[in-house]
Amino acid sequence: MKFGGTSVGSAERIRGVVERVRERASLRPVVVVSALSGVTDLLIRGAGLALERKPGPEEIVLELKTRHREVATELTTAGDARLALFNHISAVLAELSALYVGVHNLGELSPRSLDAISAMGERLSHEIVAAAMNEQGLSARAVDARGVLVTDDSFGRALPLPDETEARVRQTLLPLVKEGQVPVLPGYIAATREGITTTLGRGGSDYSASVIGAALPAEAIQIWTDVDGMLTVDPRVVTTAKVLPEVSFAEAAELAYFGAKVLHPATIKPAVEKGIAVGILNTLNPEAPGTLITERTSQPEGGARAIAFKKGISVILIAQPRMLMAYGFVARVFEVFDRHRTPVDLIATSEVSISLTVDDAERLPAIEADLAPLGEVQVLRGMAIVSLVGQGFVRQAGLAARMFGALGDINVVMISFGASDVNLSFVVAQDKAESAVRRLHREFFEKGRA
Ligand code: ADP
Ligand code: ASP
Ligand code: MG
Repeated sequence: MKFGGTSVGSAERIRGVVERVRERASLRPVVVVSALSGVTDLLIRGAGLALERKPGPEEIVLELKTRHREVATELTTAGDARLALFNHISAVLAELSALYVGVHNLGELSPRSLDAISAMGERLSHEIVAAAMNEQGLSARAVDARGVLVTDDSFGRALPLPDETEARVRQTLLPLVKEGQVPVLPGYIAATREGITTTLGRGGSDYSASVIGAALPAEAIQIWTDVDGMLTVDPRVVTTAKVLPEVSFAEAAELAYFGAKVLHPATIKPAVEKGIAVGILNTLNPEAPGTLITERTSQPEGGARAIAFKKGISVILIAQPRMLMAYGFVARVFEVFDRHRTPVDLIATSEVSISLTVDDAERLPAIEADLAPLGEVQVLRGMAIVSLVGQGFVRQAGLAARMFGALGDINVVMISFGASDVNLSFVVAQDKAESAVRRLHREFFEKGRA
């Protein structure tokens, strides 16, 4: 059972979490929690301020101390448990303060330091949630995920090492579960083999939960969040978004990859490998049935099921007139992205040019420089990918026509269709993304047929 930031955002919400876990105590749950809502953003903001030597980091440490102490106070009665919690909060925040001072003094913020800083939110929250459970009569045990989830050292987006992680999960968590204890782990954070703190990327607690769930293996993985399940579109953009009772692994993976924030993009993979169903449930509305993600759904083939979008995309166009009838060009282009470890999302080619999109702009200047010898390079920043996800797309006549018709005067920079049966994606300027999403939603989900 994984509980996101909003679900652990206040003492009242955490009491709700304890109830959800208690109801399922006989199923022997393992719990993974995010940081309290907004905390990871705040930690990262503090790091930026420290780097720029601006005032603020100390205030952030204080703010975090006050908020966590208040929540801890509401959830525990005075005594040893509260004292232990207060000591833990003080110790973690003293570490944070020292890291901020280090960043300030050195004028340097490495990805490794940023991970150590970003990890503080979950280090605090999981101890508080475990204490709250014990206070309410459950037998919970806080377990630091850094001793359990082993990753490589790609800081900021570390990849779990499956064999080591599986061994440690089983060794550490199974005995606790068998004794009737509820292990409570921080999501998002992990460590390398050497014990250096890493994170799985923003929103990574979902991924932690599925990695741990697959390693146990659990019977089910539940992602408890602040909406009634996976919806046809982000409800913040389209208020009439509808809940999808069933979603296939393939559809969920596409939606998550192309921006549906409700799931971290990598969440589905461990579940698929072990064939474990993933549920999306609402802590604010626990009676709602939610979404069940499994290998197959009972949905009829051939239809649009949901829309996702992702901003902050760059389109790279490489034109090479001599590419005409040449081979090896595409391989040379991709070799550059490979070297910079930058994944490419969408691709379109013509006889003399190739366009592709990247999400991660960090290495873009270096990539541009390396592509320059291959042809004329143009980069369009500030773009968005909009994806229509469903089933049996390539056999469905008229789908693209409906899509273009719905978009009307919104300029489409690039389109990718046919590579998979479940996804039709296109690129528009970022400031047109919401409008494109709304028009598509109206066309495919609000007209009675989809
Ligand atoms: P948590 O803190 O629980 O991990 P997130 O904020 O990461 O929660 O993810 C939940 C949010 O994802 C929702 O509040 C919603 O705004 C957003 N979201 C985006 N696309 C979708 C979608 N297709 N279905 C449901 N929620 C979505
Ligand atoms: N707290 C982390 C974040 O805000 C991880 C998560 O919530 O899943 O990105
Ligand atoms: Mg999330």
